[in-house]
Order: sequence, then C-alpha cells, then structure tokens
Amino acid sequence: MSSTRAAASNPKKKIAIIGGGAAGFFAAITAAEANPFAQVTIYERSQNTLSKVKISGGGRCNVTHSCFDPAKLATHYPRGFRELRSAFHRWQPQDTIQWFAERGVTLKTESDGRMFPDTDNSQTIIDCFHQASRDAGITLKTGVGLRALAPGVTGDFTLQLSNDTQTHADAICITTGSLKASPLTRALEALGHTIEPLAPSLFAFNVTDTRIDGLSGLSVQHASVTLAQPSLKSDSSNQRTTTQQTGPILITHRGFSGPAILRLSAWEARRLQAEKYHFDIAINWLGKVSETEVRECFAKLRKHKGRTLIRSKVFEAIPRRLWERIVESAGILEDTPWSQLSKKVETTLINQLIAAHFSVQGKTTNKDEFVTCGGVRLKEIDFRTMESRKITGLHFAGECLDIDGITGGFNFQAAWTGGRIAGLAMAGQH
Ligand SMILES: Cc1cc2nc3c(=O)[nH]c(=O)nc-3n(C[C@H](O)[C@H](O)[C@H](O)COP(=O)(O)OP(=O)(O)OC[C@H]3O[C@@H](n4cnc5c(N)ncnc54)[C@H](O)[C@@H]3O)c2cc1C
Repeated sequence: MSSTRAAASNPKKKIAIIGGGAAGFFAAITAAEANPFAQVTIYERSQNTLSKVKISGGGRCNVTHSCFDPAKLATHYPRGFRELRSAFHRWQPQDTIQWFAERGVTLKTESDGRMFPDTDNSQTIIDCFHQASRDAGITLKTGVGLRALAPGVTGDFTLQLSNDTQTHADAICITTGSLKASPLTRALEALGHTIEPLAPSLFAFNVTDTRIDGLSGLSVQHASVTLAQPSLKSDSSNQRTTTQQTGPILITHRGFSGPAILRLSAWEARRLQAEKYHFDIAINWLGKVSETEVRECFAKLRKHKGRTLIRSKVFEAIPRRLWERIVESAGILEDTPWSQLSKKVETTLINQLIAAHFSVQGKTTNKDEFVTCGGVRLKEIDFRTMESRKITGLHFAGECLDIDGITGGFNFQAAWTGGRIAGLAMAGQH
C-alpha cells in the first residue's frame, strides 16, 4: 500500500521526520498543515535545529534563486537535474517566495538572481519555521537521532533512537543532510538502497604561484577557467559536465575562488576528488576573447601607442596590479614599450593572458556555501512523492540524496522542493 493510500485510511498517522534542517522542517510543516490529524515529529540529533540555515549565505541565508523556468532552473544542478526538472513543476522558487510571503517573510533579489530575506538575517527564516511548526502542532525532539530503522509487516516502521529508545511511525522522511559519516548509511543499504559515492562540492582551489603572490582580494569579473589536460573521464552519470566555466574569479591568499571556480568544482566534483585535488587549470583573464582578437588588439597598440609602456593598464577588465604581473611573467622588462614587443615575447604574453596555466595543489572549503555530492541513488526514488521505490512509506528529501546545486540558493531550493513533495505525499495529498 502506498503511503498516500495509507494516509487516506489512517488520517492520524504518525509521521517521523529524521533531521531538523531545511528539508526536514519544510517536509514536516507541509505534512502537518496538509493533514492536521497527523502526528508529525521531527527528530534532530543535535541540540540545535536549522544550524546550516543559520550560517548560510554568510548569515543572510540565500533562500532561493529568481529563476522560474523549471527546465532552466534544473541546469544549475550538476547532479539531480533530470529528476528536479519534473519536481520543479510541483514546487519552484515562485512557490517558495509565496510560501514565505504568506508567513510574513518577504524575499529580495540581488542583481545576480540570489534571493535573501529582506532582513538580510537568516534568523528570520529560522523564526518563520519555528513559528510555523508550532502553529501546525509539530513535536520537536532535539538531541535524539535515528540510529536504525526497520520496516514492519503492516507498512509501519520501528525506529531505533540514539537515546536507546524505540518508537513507531507510519511514514518516515529521511532529511539528515549529507550522509558523510552517517550511521544511517548502512541501515539504508540494508534496506536495498544504493549510496552514490560522496564527494565535497563547491570549493576553492589552492594555488601557490608567484604570479598571484600578494594579489589576494583582486577579482576579474568575466574570466574563464578550464581544466587542463583531463586525465580522467568526467562523471559518467552527468551528461552536462563541463570542464570550462566563465564568470568572476577571485584571487585569495590561498589561490583562486569566486563563482567560476566554485562552479567548476561542483561540475567536476567527482573527477577532482579522484585526482586528489591535484590538477592543472588554464585561466583566460579575458573570458572568451580569442588569440586572434588579442593579436589584433596588440597590433593596434604597437601602431598607435608604440611609446606607451606595456605594463600600463590596457584592459578595463583586468586590475592594474594583475596586468603588471601578467606582463612580468611573460619576461617583459618594466621599461619596454609596445613598439619593442617581439613576436616571440608577444606569444608568451598572450599565453599568460588567455591561457595561463596554474597547478592546483589542494582545495579550501568555500565559507559561504558548501555541499556534498553523492547520496541516495536517484533512480531508487519516485520524485512524484519522494518515496523510496524499495520501501513503501520511506521518503527522502534534501542533501542526503545524490543532488547538489551550484552556489546561488539552488541547494536550499532543492531542499524546499523535496521537502514539499515528501510532506504532501506523507499527508496523503500528492
Ligand atoms: C556554510 C554553508 C552555507 C550555505 N549557504 C547556503 C545558501 O546560502 N543557500 C543555499 O541554497 N544553500 C546553502 N548551503 C547548502 C545548504 O545549507 C544545504 O544544501 C541544506 O542545508 C541541505 O538541507 P538538508 O535539510 O538536507 O540538510 P541539513 O540542513 O544539513 O539538515 C540535516 C539535519 O539532520 C540532522 N541529522 C543528521 N543525521 C541525523 C540522524 N541520524 N538523526 C536525526 N537527525 C540527524 C543534522 O544534525 C541536521 O540538523 C550552505 C551550506 C553551508 C555548509
């Protein structure tokens, strides 16, 4: 019997939500509001709920992204884009915005599409969830984690809790976040689920190189970064994999960060893990500008600004100190004017400008947002209900699934969408 039919026949069903994070609260509130007779309990293993929401977006919580076309929205997910495409038809950013507005929380949009609460404070989101869960009569048990679960013969579940007690539930939703070091991994595998290998996503690249030494804090808005000399095949489950990203690149005291770098780390998360975070990249500081275009530009400079020093600022997009370093790394002396640029040195300069190779030696976790790639295999989940195809009544939402997005509010949106669909299904209303 599906959980929907079970709910119809048992409106007082006990619903257990495992994990009091973003997906857990959304699933719990949805279920309790949709079925006021259901007994909904959130089990949270730590003392605090919503702790990632608290620190998210630098304390501002990037709730979602102003992208309202499900197909387009799904392209922001290196893993899960196929499944989310249909799920977003059920619950997408427009619904999220409205959901919060109905509860008195208005969201604002930044120029890059990221959406934050008007207050610029993640506590607003936390307060909203706590109020909504109280209003819906949800029981919150903190300091109580799930250790193991066993489906019973009548479609219910026995839950083994960390306080050495047992309880029963008619439906359960796993919203534990990343399964890294989770004791539930084994329990889920024992129930027939497959856990796709876990790997960090959204990280910065560590680079020690004299060309960027002392330039920490400089950024280029439209640069592009390419993984050089691929030695391993990209994630085979992911047809959208791309080894080049264009956008802002930030020089940090450890190497490179910024949206283009983080996006590359997400799309290539598995491959970079396999390479143990030692790989080469090539940066085009002019984004997509080609060698021919740069040669034409240099020819004009030779002709019209022959006496001007090469190290003088040339490109609006490139900060002066970075340009000086590029010129220096091409072996050009400080007092060399454009008229004295030899063809050979010109080629070296062009390489440093549009194909500068750097060796990455390790990664640094992104402070604003990081997620785990990998988790419960998506083929084993029915995305119309977020219910397991293996065990009736067992649902999943959030980061425990093999879903992750790039930065920008996409990870929370996946949590809201999954939580919403699972909540409605458990309440018997999908
Ligand atoms: C620093 C940082 C900033 C971020 N900022 C953003 C952002 O601005 N926008 C965005 O979209 N995404 C952001 N993310 C990603 C986002 O936080 C996650 O994608 C999202 O929290 C996942 O939601 P979740 O409910 O699946 O997991 P979580 O929010 O991690 O919640 C899972 C909860 O389950 C609990 N739990 C785990 N195991 C058990 C168990 N066995 N029993 C009971 N409870 C358990 C955990 O303690 C936790 O409270 C950020 C991530 C980080 C680390």
